[in-house]
Amino acid sequence: MLCLRLLFPVALAILSVLVVWRPVAISASPEGSARAAKFVKTHEAKLRPLEVAAGLAWWNANISGKDEDFKEKERTQNRIDEALANPEAFRELKEIKRQGGIDDPVLAREIDVLYLAYLEKQVDPDLLKKITALANKVEKSFNVYRAKVDGKEMTDSEVRRILKNSKDSERRKEVWESSKAVGGVVEADLRELVKLRNEAATKLGFKNYHALQLFLNEQKGEDLIKLFDELDDLTREPFRAAKAEIDAKLVADYQVRTDQLMPWHYHDPFFQESPAVFAINIDTPYTKADLPGLCRQFYASIGLPVDEVLARSDLYEKPGKSPHAFCTDIDREGDVRVLANIVNNEYWMGTMLHEVGHSVYSSKNIPRSLPFPLRLESHILTTEGVAMMFERLSKQRAWLEKMGLHVSNPKEFDETAAKMQRNQLLIFSRWCQVMLRFEKGMYENPDQDLSALWWDLVEKYQLLKRPAGRKAPDYGSKIHIVSAPVYYHNYQMGQLLPRKCIMRSRATSIRVQIRTR
Ligand SMILES: [Zn+2]
Repeated sequence: MLCLRLLFPVALAILSVLVVWRPVAISASPEGSARAAKFVKTHEAKLRPLEVAAGLAWWNANISGKDEDFKEKERTQNRIDEALANPEAFRELKEIKRQGGIDDPVLAREIDVLYLAYLEKQVDPDLLKKITALANKVEKSFNVYRAKVDGKEMTDSEVRRILKNSKDSERRKEVWESSKAVGGVVEADLRELVKLRNEAATKLGFKNYHALQLFLNEQKGEDLIKLFDELDDLTREPFRAAKAEIDAKLVADYQVRTDQLMPWHYHDPFFQESPAVFAINIDTPYTKADLPGLCRQFYASIGLPVDEVLARSDLYEKPGKSPHAFCTDIDREGDVRVLANIVNNEYWMGTMLHEVGHSVYSSKNIPRSLPFPLRLESHILTTEGVAMMFERLSKQRAWLEKMGLHVSNPKEFDETAAKMQRNQLLIFSRWCQVMLRFEKGMYENPDQDLSALWWDLVEKYQLLKRPAGRKAPDYGSKIHIVSAPVYYHNYQMGQLLPRKCIMRSRATSIRVQIRTR
């Protein structure tokens, strides 16, 4: 799923009391709590308006792609960074943490969260500004880039349409290569950005930026790799079998030999989605559907109306606008918006369910009794888990029919959708392996041949063939590498989350059934 979730500052998007309820300190004291409460109050008074301004500037820049909007985005981010970089405030925060004695677990959690947010910014202010300026520049390049084939610009959805429908391998190759060319546009700046991020991280005492980000998100690198190694073992053979079946269909579709199948034959530019190669085209029920209307209807039916979110959102393609999709919480008071580029197909139905899924798990529905520093999702992985749980509905016939959509050939639809859903989980898991391991390797050694690292991982985990002699920086064509660093592994962890929730609800219904018998 092509999606992106960003918040200001990213470091605040971390575990809240909903996930970790810290035990009350043994030496709780009214003094410790009063000092902590005072700090939080001062922080909120200063940061809240800055964060709202940055949220709006970020939104505007992504909608317009204009220089002045990106400048404003940079200016507002610098103001946040300046506030969080304040050494006196950080000293006070460290002292509050050292002394402990906070008798309220919510307040103690606020201090932990703020500590991490301030910690990230305890570096030379000029370095912070350089990082923000460069990140802004790279993001802007990404936003306004459009693939160009035969001198004609293509929208992201046109690229996807050709990669899905064209039977002409040469045409597919041209379009795929052109969609990757944004990597070349951002390559030099991205390399520089990685070095600056590493410089900041090492000044803070971390091995590199990857290690710093994991720490700020309260994750351990060793645990993460252990989990991904285990997932690698579990998915390797099922993925190989699923891909062999897909390959057989692609070979027939494109009239090529298996050894001639190249990355541009797999429908999605990154082979992160399940190619639509089976009996039924699951786009058909959506060709005339009102996708935002379906979201409105569905979320209202589960008691989480999203009319306000949709009214504030920007949902269709336009020049200069970010070609991707994301949900953003502007003010932690319920001003939540979705940016999308809707086309009438299953992919965009899933994406809309995903992004609107983020919006119902946001300040829109978080109780106002929770204080400002914690009024966010409990973790990146939980919001992605919730969003992906809703996203799956777009492939379920029962859901489509409840929403009033007509599914002809229900049996074939079910078979195709079930196969695509299973393939999707396997394909996405292997793709997450590439993303996690590439970012880790890139920040550990940014001077290595990153293109070689990228294709080594793509070959190993996705079983795709590296185009002969290709030296292009294809890693740079994935927006997360550029503007949501060290984030991607949370999608995979989020995929593991809803399975647990579903299991639990199933267990409950089983218990109910037993009792009623
Ligand atoms: Zn998401």
